[in-house]
Amino acid sequence: MPRPADRWRKRTFVRTPGGKTVMRFKDKKSSEHTCGLCEKELHGVPNGKKNSEVLAMAKTEKRPTRIFGGVLCSGCTTRIIEEAAMVKTKQKELSAVSFSEKKFVEMALGKIGG
Ligand SMILES: [Zn+2]
Repeated sequence: MPRPADRWRKRTFVRTPGGKTVMRFKDKKSSEHTCGLCEKELHGVPNGKKNSEVLAMAKTEKRPTRIFGGVLCSGCTTRIIEEAAMVKTKQKELSAVSFSEKKFVEMALGKIGG
């Protein structure tokens, strides 16, 4: 009987040089990382890598080092920063920004000191 914490894990069986068959746990793979707004697949993030491989990676290999890196795709990031700049320069009201983009625009305003 496996430990209760291991019950959900997928198993595999390997034959040892001595001829015994032993059970091993399979390593879970990370899911695909998607954009927080348009749900497009993100680049520069470990899509479909094993969890142990992701843990061995450096921080800069896990996500792009820019605003909304690993959260939003480049197109959405550009749009959000443009919206934030328009709000900061008072060309647009924050209430006029669409509901789904509002929280990101507020975060961008915090970054650019608005
Ligand atoms: Zn996007």
